[in-house]
Amino acid sequence: MKRQVAIVGGGPAGMMAAIRAAEVLGDGARVVLFDKNERLGRKIYLTGKGRCNLTNRRGWEEFSPHIHPNQGFLKSAFRAFSNEDLIRFFEEELGVPTVTLQGQRVYPASLVAGDVARSLERRVHELGVDIRYGTSVASLADLADFGAVVIATGGKSYPVTGSTGDGYRFAMEAGHTVTPVFPSETALLPQDYDPGLPGMEMKNVGLQLYVDRTMVESEQGDFNFTADGLESGIAYHLSRRAVWALYNGQQVDIVMDLKPALTEAQLVKRMQREEQAGGFWSREHFSASGTKARAAEPVAFLRRFLPEALIAPFLRAHPGLTIEKLPAALKSWPFHIVDYKGFDRAVVTAGGVSLKEIVPKTMASRLRPGLFFCGEVLDLDGDTGGYNLQIAFSTGAMAGANAAKYVLG
Ligand SMILES: Cc1cc2nc3c(=O)[nH]c(=O)nc-3n(C[C@H](O)[C@H](O)[C@H](O)COP(=O)(O)OP(=O)(O)OC[C@H]3O[C@@H](n4cnc5c(N)ncnc54)[C@H](O)[C@@H]3O)c2cc1C
Repeated sequence: MKRQVAIVGGGPAGMMAAIRAAEVLGDGARVVLFDKNERLGRKIYLTGKGRCNLTNRRGWEEFSPHIHPNQGFLKSAFRAFSNEDLIRFFEEELGVPTVTLQGQRVYPASLVAGDVARSLERRVHELGVDIRYGTSVASLADLADFGAVVIATGGKSYPVTGSTGDGYRFAMEAGHTVTPVFPSETALLPQDYDPGLPGMEMKNVGLQLYVDRTMVESEQGDFNFTADGLESGIAYHLSRRAVWALYNGQQVDIVMDLKPALTEAQLVKRMQREEQAGGFWSREHFSASGTKARAAEPVAFLRRFLPEALIAPFLRAHPGLTIEKLPAALKSWPFHIVDYKGFDRAVVTAGGVSLKEIVPKTMASRLRPGLFFCGEVLDLDGDTGGYNLQIAFSTGAMAGANAAKYVLG
């Protein structure tokens, strides 16, 4: 049996695999880690807006619904190296204190993503792993001298970081099925996107996703209107389903509820109360003679309900709006989605190496002995919130340990 383990890709999954393989072998020199870049974990530096949301602290029951398309596949790897294990690993083994912020998101206490990347890279060095920087593996056949091979090449998103989808080619070389890959956790562009919307930060709104006019998913929380469309937060969560539908030529619409805490009837009552109290009248709604105008304008109510900058785009989206139609309009502002931001800006790649051909308890290929897969190259992705890095770390740890056990026989 050949005694070395090759790991292709030095992202979070590959570095974790290298660490565990070196620990199991008790000899880091028997682990060779290839990365096409001159430093490891390049993508990590960009994560969490430079702060690196390295995991999410929720227990499995609440964690698992954020994993797609097959949360069950991750269960063994998560049990073997869970979010709490990962936090302990960073704090106790790597010396990186962590902090848990809103939504159970865990970050390095320094809020510097580089601290995560550098501490992992340092550990790989300390263990004596043979790191081949600036080396792009072209084919599985080039690794024939190794006893086991771990593919940790990531997906296709943010290709400038080195993740260019090479692992899909390696998987196919070994006879694996690769399910269609598409961008996820990405911006959704509406038709006739109003120029007044980019820059608006939406707090606690509802979004409902319709595919071919059927409501398929809904979320409540925050998101942003950016130059690229509806982005981050709950918009990202809907993007997986929305992009897949657009990819398949289906009609995609998103309906925004600006007042999700109130029913339409409650909104009507609140408007009536406001009207009786005269509270909504603004200076420009007094007539020239100084008496109150008789009919209230929607805009007077809107000032009570919406941020000023949102009023003009809202009115442009609802031409001819009357007071009577206002509650319904606040509850359902439709956006017809026509495009999405591609792999160059998507946070994650959905689709990948088919999970049916991978053993979930080892990350081993069912088709080729000695071949293992981990991280985003798999047909496994998570919502934003630390889920994707946990996938990389859990599956990486499992693949590395089992590749090492494999060469030990
Ligand atoms: C902007 C952005 C922000 C993100 N923020 C977060 C966050 O806060 N929390 C979170 O959980 N997730 C986040 N993610 C997602 C997360 O970064 C990825 O899911 C994770 O990095 C995947 O890890 P990986 O090791 O599988 O692949 P990658 O990190 O993509 O690493 C793959 C590595 O393989 C190397 N490689 C590829 N092909 C070859 C080859 N042929 N030869 C040699 N080397 C090769 C590449 O150079 C790269 O270093 C974010 C992603 C982006 C783009």
